[in-house]
Amino acid sequence: MLRIYTHEDCLEHLVPEHHPERPARLAFLIEHLERTGFTKDYPLQVAPQIGKVLMGHAHDATLIHQLTERVPEAGLTPIDPDTWISPKSLIAARYAAGAVWQGVQDVMTGEATRVFCAVRPPGHHAESGGPMGFCLLNSIAIAAINALALPGVQRVAVLDFDVHHGNGTVEMCRKHPEILVCSSFQHPFYPGRYHDVVQSNIVNTPLDAGIAGDTFRRAIEASWWSAIESHQPDLILVSAGFDGHREDPVGNWNLEDDDYGWVTAEIVALAGQYSSGRVVSVLEGGYDLNALARSALVHLETLASA
Ligand SMILES: [Zn+2]
Repeated sequence: MLRIYTHEDCLEHLVPEHHPERPARLAFLIEHLERTGFTKDYPLQVAPQIGKVLMGHAHDATLIHQLTERVPEAGLTPIDPDTWISPKSLIAARYAAGAVWQGVQDVMTGEATRVFCAVRPPGHHAESGGPMGFCLLNSIAIAAINALALPGVQRVAVLDFDVHHGNGTVEMCRKHPEILVCSSFQHPFYPGRYHDVVQSNIVNTPLDAGIAGDTFRRAIEASWWSAIESHQPDLILVSAGFDGHREDPVGNWNLEDDDYGWVTAEIVALAGQYSSGRVVSVLEGGYDLNALARSALVHLETLASA
């Protein structure tokens, strides 16, 4: 059974004009899910906010304090040239992280088998001590680290197929050998941090600009599946970024809608083998509205089908 979490405040994280990570991404995706009738079968559920204690298990206390201090009463505050905070940004980020954490609880209690979190801002670039790259809180790392305290969770796998490296997830999870992180990414490319970490629970899969689906599929097959087989995760989390699509204006890969269906089907099959089918996926990148909406729908249909 698939559940979809979102929250209307995720549309209230505002950014400067022409910023690619804009509220329209999520609004267009949700309209697409409604237009295609997908939400008739899988109605949108309201995400809760992540609690401060859970955030503090994964992020430095100073980061949460700094973010809180920098929330403006009006207008926009820059954290770096890419990353901005508006009055409701921290609340939006707390709903995004809360969606993933609720998803983890749902799959661990058996209320759902698969969960997709249609949220923003994205999270996988945020490190333990600092927001960056459009990301404020690292939703997937918060969920992975806190999941280790749940009954029945000894090992977690985080699979990240966004066109950018999940530097924050690697940095935050590297000290937890119970968490396997696999990240495929265009290289060299943003952000260029923690992509050369060599340790058994980190699988970095750099790929050239310009690659198409066949190269992506071969690389994932060669580097991820055997690592998951050895790790035997009780829970699979997915950083679902769709900015490797051919039509995406930010990434330079040439993936098609079908490639996202393929990687999702493979993940679902592995989840069936190792984690009683449990998959919690969260939206990361994807900046062409149409390509994002189509690819995310293929991802959701595949999550729902098996
Ligand atoms: Zn990305």
